[in-house]
Amino acid sequence: VAELYYDDDADLSLIQSKKVAIVGYGSQGHAHALNLRDSGVDVVVGLREGSSSWSKAEEQGLAVATVADAVAAADVVMILAPDQVQRTLYSEQIEPNLKPDAALFFAHGFNIRYGYIAPSAGHDICMVAPKGPGHTVRREFEAGRGVPVIVAVEQDASGQGWALALSYAKAIGGLRAAGIKTTFTEETETDLFGEQTVLCGGVTALIQSGFETLTEAGYQPEVAYFEVLHEMKLIVDLMWEGGISKMRWSISDTAEYGDYVSGPRVITPEVKERMKEVLADIQSGAFADRFISDQDAGGPEFKELRTRGEQHSIETTGRELRKLFAWTETRDQDYTEGSVA
Ligand code: NDP
Ligand code: MG
Ligand code: MG
Repeated sequence: VAELYYDDDADLSLIQSKKVAIVGYGSQGHAHALNLRDSGVDVVVGLREGSSSWSKAEEQGLAVATVADAVAAADVVMILAPDQVQRTLYSEQIEPNLKPDAALFFAHGFNIRYGYIAPSAGHDICMVAPKGPGHTVRREFEAGRGVPVIVAVEQDASGQGWALALSYAKAIGGLRAAGIKTTFTEETETDLFGEQTVLCGGVTALIQSGFETLTEAGYQPEVAYFEVLHEMKLIVDLMWEGGISKMRWSISDTAEYGDYVSGPRVITPEVKERMKEVLADIQSGAFADRFISDQDAGGPEFKELRTRGEQHSIETTGRELRKLFAWTETRDQDYTEGSVA
């Protein structure tokens, strides 16, 4: 069984005695910086000059500096810029300014696992990775709860790496839920696999195929949208609360029987074989190579795929329908320009 940590297993005063630089102020960055600050930690946000995040962080009452200045002053540096920019950011802005014994923190093992960042032996290399989007990490913290975190130490130069990682995890609220011990390798490979085959890639392909099947058969797109996309959240909420069993307990017997007989006709054993191929590409580094090579070239493949996804007819139907939902608080925005803080 996995080793779990809770608030009682961590000493908050350890991270409170350090100066922490949070590099990046996006989805994760804003949540970590604000939660640490509210836990009594001395935080500075590191950003590039002219960054659109700069004023956002200042408006929240945080100290902001260039990446170089923030890093130079810090005992702990948490790198929360996008994974594909971390390698260059590290070699150009972070490494030259890093205190020789500063601890390096990550929220995803990608750059360490694939060797894009190889810190020298004097640095602790730790991971505190919330298992949820940054906005949830902040919202849950404010509500007195937390999002579970994955904790790992790749290099324990100080001998205090674990205590420091747990202290950080406590300060962002993660140990109110639970901290799960893992390694950079396990976190990276399972995270990529989960998002590619199930959570993001799998689910979107499933929804789009279902929508296409219904609309091509002549059913109204609005009705198809409700059946294959909108209701997904309601079903997932039940699984989240009580596993697949609770979801099956809650749905009608008709739906439950259809689940048993038709699910395996759609997700056939061949799908699992494809999943194994995806996992192999993650383990070999082939996926990482493909992603980083494309990013280094300015992301032509990435941009084309994003545009193609945005043009799928389910997006048009959804945009129109969501305007009519009295209960949706968030308004649609332009989602074509990357993640939004
Ligand atoms: P975001 O895309 O939200 O990060 C954007 C932030 O990074 C902005 O403040 C941006 O500033 C800054 N930034 C971008 N490029 C640079 C640069 N070259 N130099 C300095 N700052 C830069 O990242 P995420 O929060 O999504 O991801 C951060 C890390 O957390 C990743 O390792 C990711 O895998 C991990 N993670 C993310 C999760 C999530 O919820 N999104 C969940 C769990 C882990 P500017 O305004 O200047 O562009
Ligand atoms: Mg991920
Ligand atoms: Mg139904």
